[in-house]
Amino acid sequence: DSVFSSVSTLPDDPILSLTGKFLADPRDCKVNLGVGMYLDENGVTPVLDVVREAEEAIALSHRPHTYIPQTGLPLYDRLVQELLFGKDSEVVTSKRACTVQSLGGTGALKLGCDLMYWACGLRVGAASVPTWGNHNDILERSGYTVAAYRYYDAGTHGLNFEAMCEDLKKLPAKTLVILHACCHNPTGYDLDANQWSEIIDICKHCQLVPFLDLAYQGFKAGLEEDSLAVRLFADSGLDFLVASSFSKSFNLYSERIGALTVVTHSENEALRVASHLKCCARANYSNPAAFGGRIVERVLSDPDKFAHWEKELAGMRNRILAMRQALADEMRAIGAKRDFSFVTEQAGMFSFTGLTPEQVDRLSSEFGIYAVRNGRICVCGLNRKNVAYVARSFAAVL
Ligand code: PMP
Repeated sequence: DSVFSSVSTLPDDPILSLTGKFLADPRDCKVNLGVGMYLDENGVTPVLDVVREAEEAIALSHRPHTYIPQTGLPLYDRLVQELLFGKDSEVVTSKRACTVQSLGGTGALKLGCDLMYWACGLRVGAASVPTWGNHNDILERSGYTVAAYRYYDAGTHGLNFEAMCEDLKKLPAKTLVILHACCHNPTGYDLDANQWSEIIDICKHCQLVPFLDLAYQGFKAGLEEDSLAVRLFADSGLDFLVASSFSKSFNLYSERIGALTVVTHSENEALRVASHLKCCARANYSNPAAFGGRIVERVLSDPDKFAHWEKELAGMRNRILAMRQALADEMRAIGAKRDFSFVTEQAGMFSFTGLTPEQVDRLSSEFGIYAVRNGRICVCGLNRKNVAYVARSFAAVL
């Protein structure tokens, strides 16, 4: 008998498997609204100018492929902190935070969960309903009992802040609470500054440990603006964690480049935490990959390159905003049964359309339009050529 004879087949990831279905569809009219990647007006993920320049410079340097430090490139780690908190912020100058390079935002979440489990004894983790599915999987596979807090109200197409607060208050002390710092995936609805302050009060009062997931910095309003939540937490005096990712903001999806930042009370604490993070990194993958880190480091460390990156990022952000508006306008022009203006109030790559699983199924079978069955669409899949077709198809299934 094989050791694998009792192993069952698990279902494919519902989001990642959409691309296979999309590619297999022979229709010319097909549209992929399932992907979680930025696509430009021509439906491709562009290489940013700043990335191309860095790639070439790095290739020409013919550097030996030696291990880099377990915690990542030191300059990269410092630049990530400056991007999160501001160059002259107290968190950066006091050195009470430690940052380690990670394998994308996912790797940062995993490192953070491992750290809090092994070094601090946390055993309960919570994520929003709905959330990016991997939050729950990472918590569970890291040994946590997974709890949930309500976030979205399908009836009103919006945030249910009261329910969120009510559920957070019920969590046991020392729960690791994953919070989407901006561009909530999948709903696109974020908290405002006052609401964040209330969440901070609840975290203090109930002794919760906030873990901010910042995978889309720059996709809502700008790099500074999108670190609002991170900076409010930094000012609050709470201990907290931040998972950053450059997958989206640099279109570096395949390079797996992100960072975990842990904000503590003192430099001494940060150094002790860093020693545990080295251990977590070692037991998972030993040392991080260098290439993505070198690209990001090169751009963040040079004011001209940084400015150029900000411009390219704004280009992506503005295209998404324009497509949100175009979809809402097209739906209105057709006289669709439902007003789609809520799409323009959501932030980031995704939009929660309120389409039911059955309507999503009809979109793929009848129209060749692929979306996640929970009604999430990636707005980047829209462009000037297909937005009217998508709107007509939406109206037809509503
Ligand atoms: N957090 C959220 C909310 C995300 O949507 C994603 C990517 N889909 C990530 C983290 C992880 O991003 P990556 O590991 O690709 O950097």
